[in-house]
Amino acid sequence: MRKILIVGAGQSGLQLALGLQSQGYEVTLMSNRTADEIRTGRVMSTQCMFHTALQHERDLGINFWESQAPRIEGLGVSVAGPESQRVIDWVGRLDGYAQSVDQRVKMAGWMETFAQRGGQLVIHGAAVGDLDYFSRTYDLVLVSAGKGELVSMFGRDAARSPYAEPQRALAVSYVHGLGPRPEHPDFDAVRCNLVPGVGELFVMPTLTTSGRADILFWEGIPGGPLDVFQGVKDPSEHLALTLELMEKFTPWEYARATKAELTDANGTLAGRYAPTVRNPIGRLPGGGLVLGVADVVVANDPITGQGSNSASKCAAAYLASIVEHGDKPFDETWMRATFDRYWNTAQHVTKWTNAMLGVPPEHVLGLIGAAGTLQPVADRFANGFDDPADFENFFFDPEKTAAYLAEAAGSGRS
Ligand SMILES: Cc1cc2nc3c(=O)[nH]c(=O)nc-3n(C[C@H](O)[C@H](O)[C@H](O)COP(=O)(O)OP(=O)(O)OC[C@H]3O[C@@H](n4cnc5c(N)ncnc54)[C@H](O)[C@@H]3O)c2cc1C
Repeated sequence: MRKILIVGAGQSGLQLALGLQSQGYEVTLMSNRTADEIRTGRVMSTQCMFHTALQHERDLGINFWESQAPRIEGLGVSVAGPESQRVIDWVGRLDGYAQSVDQRVKMAGWMETFAQRGGQLVIHGAAVGDLDYFSRTYDLVLVSAGKGELVSMFGRDAARSPYAEPQRALAVSYVHGLGPRPEHPDFDAVRCNLVPGVGELFVMPTLTTSGRADILFWEGIPGGPLDVFQGVKDPSEHLALTLELMEKFTPWEYARATKAELTDANGTLAGRYAPTVRNPIGRLPGGGLVLGVADVVVANDPITGQGSNSASKCAAAYLASIVEHGDKPFDETWMRATFDRYWNTAQHVTKWTNAMLGVPPEHVLGLIGAAGTLQPVADRFANGFDDPADFENFFFDPEKTAAYLAEAAGSGRS
């Protein structure tokens, strides 16, 4: 039986651990926190996942919260004008629903399942020295430790990382008591509010430790009016600031947030990081090799809500590569090919996400505006969150955008 060590119990590490375990591999999972510490700890993400990523979980039979989590059936976009009015407002319908399950709920639950099924769970914050030792005793060591310190083993790929600094200051609040979306109260949607030159506000339903809730998520351009959360330690002050900024920049969202209360004292998060693609193979001091997974190797800004989706897709791709490789050694050539298989999809996510962080060019503004009158354009844009490769066909190149909009207008459906 092949022995595999997975370091880091997040979306990718746990999905891979449970997948390998079900195929008969001897898996050890190392986590720097226990399930209870995760469950009662701070929120980590907004973790909205779209159909393809959720299907990978269903394929493994680990979609334990699917019936409880709100079904997100659409994706709405609003653009604020200079008077804080909505100059653009539309909602695209998703072909398959999205869902957000608080990572505190999911990761704690998956960890317990892994242990109940006989997996070896080690609670230990791994250091490079540990990995050096373990790389000699395991057939394969995978590092799925997110954006933590272990990334220092994986060199930055400058050619694939256009930004050296964080492009957004992030501020998340989990709340109860948010009113329904006034436009379409009959179905749930993610709301993306773009405030030009200032940042973005995302609002989405989730399943958290206390049941259904909503998340208010500001992404602020560094140094701008939303970049005010650093150093705010009191959760109620964090929420008060969030609401104050909503009243000022997105009053239509504020109107339904006047009764919002934090879900719990750990329901807020603030931070920032530079989007970075890394060399996927880490070389240990003793000569051993480890393979990086998900955020360790490709960390995009959450502006497009792709990290957990990518983590799920990465775990699914690596699982297939490991199983297909049979008893052959997990050498450098295999590691490189395994990452390249994932990069085939991840490259589209990185390109689109980095584009969304910049000032939108004229043709992109035209596309977002056109979605307000052409429903097929709104729907296609929304479904791009599930499969960002589709943006190659109509988003980046002004000529392709123009051709697509002409075709959509000519089809007569609006
Ligand atoms: C504010 C915010 C909002 C987001 N919103 C979305 C969204 O809506 N949709 C989406 O798809 N993505 C979103 N993301 C991104 C998403 O959360 C991440 O990309 C995803 O969780 C990455 O999964 P992962 O498995 O690579 O790492 P993680 O989920 O970060 O898991 C890594 C785990 O490794 C552990 N660890 C770290 N160091 C060690 C160590 N030395 N030893 C042992 N364990 C260790 C950590 O504690 C953690 O449990 C968001 C991120 C942020 C910050």
